[in-house]
Amino acid sequence: MPMKKPADDLIAADKQCLWHPFTPGQIWLDSGDEPARLIVEAQGFRLIDSRGDSFIDGFSSLWCNLHGHRVPQIDAAIRAQLEKVSHTTLLGHASGPSIELGRRLVQHAPPGLARVFYSDSGATAVEVALKMAYQYWLNRGRPRRRFMALQHGYHGDTIGAVSVGGIDSFHQIFRPMLFETTLMPSPCPYVHPLGASAVPAVLEQIEQALAAAPEEYCAMIVEPLVQGAGGMLTHGEGFLAGVREITRRHDVLLIVDEVATGFCRTGRLFACENEDVAPDLMCLGKGLSGGYLPLAATLATREIFDAFSDGGDKTFFHGHTFTGNALACAAGVASFDLIFSSGLLDTLSAKEELIARRLGELADHPHVAEVRQRGMMVGVQLVQDRAARQEFDPALRTGAGVCMHARRHGVLTRPLGDVVVLMPAPAMDLATLDELLKATVTSIREYFDGTRI
Ligand code: PLP
Repeated sequence: MPMKKPADDLIAADKQCLWHPFTPGQIWLDSGDEPARLIVEAQGFRLIDSRGDSFIDGFSSLWCNLHGHRVPQIDAAIRAQLEKVSHTTLLGHASGPSIELGRRLVQHAPPGLARVFYSDSGATAVEVALKMAYQYWLNRGRPRRRFMALQHGYHGDTIGAVSVGGIDSFHQIFRPMLFETTLMPSPCPYVHPLGASAVPAVLEQIEQALAAAPEEYCAMIVEPLVQGAGGMLTHGEGFLAGVREITRRHDVLLIVDEVATGFCRTGRLFACENEDVAPDLMCLGKGLSGGYLPLAATLATREIFDAFSDGGDKTFFHGHTFTGNALACAAGVASFDLIFSSGLLDTLSAKEELIARRLGELADHPHVAEVRQRGMMVGVQLVQDRAARQEFDPALRTGAGVCMHARRHGVLTRPLGDVVVLMPAPAMDLATLDELLKATVTSIREYFDGTRI
């Protein structure tokens, strides 16, 4: 009898014991070791599985990896911290790496953001921002309870974050559990009926809604420039700046959710820099630790912090056991420093141009409605009929099929419905990036023309 390999045992145990996120159960159980390969190792921008196959990490391990895997500087920082202490609490105690990282965040964040509150995932960074906004108004003696958000928006999967979410397929079933949120249309020309003229129309709607209900809204929350999980929906120029202007004029807080867009994804360190926007609260996650360890942060203005600390018992009763974890913050410090010492920000425009040029080859493809790109965030929108913009039957799982096919060309990524997502690590070198792009173009062509290898 052939000896069972350890990887086979693990794959079998995975099917028996684990429950994978955002994964249709039956398809998962019926699918052998596809769609999930057992990743056992990584090298730079490549992931290696238990069969020894190597893949370019085309989606930054779910949009978090910044500099590649096994980066010597980040590995060394974690090891050095490991030699001291892995974790101590920030509840009433301080810890060096969290301070070092906090200092850097305040220095480089948009102006006015002066305080860093740590948590451990993008969703918790959003929960913290929502609760801070709510209690801020309470502490100021002007209680409010509504939030405003965008259709197709995504802010994580905890109940507060879901309450401000706008993706029906993710969020609809939970509506009875959620607090009320006013959803404004997304200004992405692909989904808005007015197309390229969406920005002024949506801004006008926001203006009217806030003017009609003064003193009702705690905050508006937006993903700046790109609604990632909604399908890489890019916003027209001026939308974010317009939202800032309107919220400020109506004295409503602006929460910018940079969990996906932060850390060099849109050509700048933070996406809101592209429109010179300074929010009242900013949520960070994913790339904050270089994509190494779970770490998130909510940055707040001095004015918000002061509303919790200007006398009386105005404590913000929120915290997590692993808040400000020392290993994660040490990774964050090393990643932050590497962004600047490597000159990463200066390398981005050449990469963005390469992406636009290569994926421009799909411009006339009959099943590609459009390629949406902002910086290094990309969505290739697949459709049944390009002229009529008719979508594929979701049951066909076309986006998933294309991504599965791309594995044969050495690319790992994950679709959003029928949007093929590419979100390579910002530090990916041009040669690897070119390989990723060519393989993606080939995979899409082959999938549809029947020459699937
Ligand atoms: N906010 C945005 C904009 C995101 O894209 C995500 C995740 O994709 C989240 C929040 C939630 O982050 P996490 O999965 O770390 O909870």
